[in-house]
Amino acid sequence: MFRAIAVRIGQGSASALRSFAPTSILATAGLVGALPILDCDAAVDTPRANVILVTIDTVRADHLSCYGHPRRTSPHIDALAERGVLFESCVAQGPWTLPTMASIHTGLYPAEHGANRSSNRLGSEQDMLAEAFRDAGYTTLAVISNNFVNASYGFNQGFDEFDQRYVQDHEGTSSPAITDTAIELMETYGSDPFFLWVHYFDPHHDYIAQSEFPVPIEYAGPWPSTLDVGYLNRLRGDLNATDLDYLSWVYGSEIYLTDLHFGRLLSHVETLGLSDRTIVAVTSDHGEEFYERQEFGHGKKLYEELVHVPLVLFDPRTPGLISSGAPKHRSLSNRVRTPVEVRSLGRTLLDLAGADNATFAGDNLVEFVDPDAPRPVYAEGSTAWGRNVRKHMIREGRWKLIRNLEEAPQSRRRVKSGPGPGPDDTDALEPYELYDLDLDPGEKRNLYDPEGTTSKHLQVILEARGRAWEKTGQVRPKGQRATLSREEKERLRSLGYIK
Ligand SMILES: [Zn+2]
Repeated sequence: MFRAIAVRIGQGSASALRSFAPTSILATAGLVGALPILDCDAAVDTPRANVILVTIDTVRADHLSCYGHPRRTSPHIDALAERGVLFESCVAQGPWTLPTMASIHTGLYPAEHGANRSSNRLGSEQDMLAEAFRDAGYTTLAVISNNFVNASYGFNQGFDEFDQRYVQDHEGTSSPAITDTAIELMETYGSDPFFLWVHYFDPHHDYIAQSEFPVPIEYAGPWPSTLDVGYLNRLRGDLNATDLDYLSWVYGSEIYLTDLHFGRLLSHVETLGLSDRTIVAVTSDHGEEFYERQEFGHGKKLYEELVHVPLVLFDPRTPGLISSGAPKHRSLSNRVRTPVEVRSLGRTLLDLAGADNATFAGDNLVEFVDPDAPRPVYAEGSTAWGRNVRKHMIREGRWKLIRNLEEAPQSRRRVKSGPGPGPDDTDALEPYELYDLDLDPGEKRNLYDPEGTTSKHLQVILEARGRAWEKTGQVRPKGQRATLSREEKERLRSLGYIK
């Protein structure tokens, strides 16, 4: 089977034709067991599962109603979670877009893929999720809305269609156009098995109240209608509970708007008659701070408000649970409490789709989850806004240890504008912080004790992991230097990411 597909790379770039070689080994949509080897004609007759990966920028898990938020901010994601699997404790590998999204698309930790500062891009030698799907015979499609996941950062690798026309700053909303484009892509390529990545952006700051989710507060405070996070950080000394409640409503309205369009996307999957063979995953790249530590925004810390992201996975062939095509044949129940890493989502999707994943990094989540013996999960802080915020984090069950590796606070360069530093710039950082997330979900009481059993246990594992990352980082090709257009630089500057 040969296919020729026009490749469009975003904003007016050149088209090209690319043909696929005949695929000799194609996986089926079988739920369990070894993957049969089929010839090309048989493969054409066997419908394989499509895969839709939805990433919503800047959504902290606890602001979705299916994760317990008191307002109904996410009815369509909630409905998907009812039918699929919700991971209650999914950890993002970094506290901002580039490192975590690169982890989702490579299965690697940030120190391994190297796209962990705004000047670095994913190198062409990286094995990308879209490449793995394409090699398995899938048509690979993407529509994205954040500079950090555009072609300049290497995220177009492996995609037959990559639409980045709706990357923008905060002068409007992009969820309607992103959804329209995703629908057009499905209409064009829905007869092929496809991997479709849709990246939404609207919950990212600035916060704009959306009329679809009316904010019932008569707000008369100091904030303008478009809430710039740098402005909020400058105001932070004068905030009261009404201000923060208003902000929470506005953020919720942006989540609601995005969820509404996510629902429209799913409706169209149904309209196209694909809902019985389309796997859907929804997650985020990081959360957002709402003054838990007297600061707004994201990028610099590894507390739960920043690294706890939603993850919902639905496979229509096994409603209510997912099964792996791997030998263990395990299944998961509707809600999974065991901590997992979002970087393993790609590997899991490849497995569920029956696509060859032998060389793709990450763990199949179905096999990874063992409630009786939770395995550790990790995150890293690297460099954000030109500042060294190096940290390592490990979570094992209820326990979480953070290792602060950044330079001494007094030597940091103080930034006066943009998302900016918080009070931790002047507070001395402890080298280690240990939290019991069952008893102290807000991470207010540091229980680290150099002589304590849990502290020592996690410290040993985390330090070993840090050394392994360093070693891997030395032998693997580093992320390459990103070349950004003037427009892209200006957009990042307007968001406060670069100076
Ligand atoms: Zn982001």
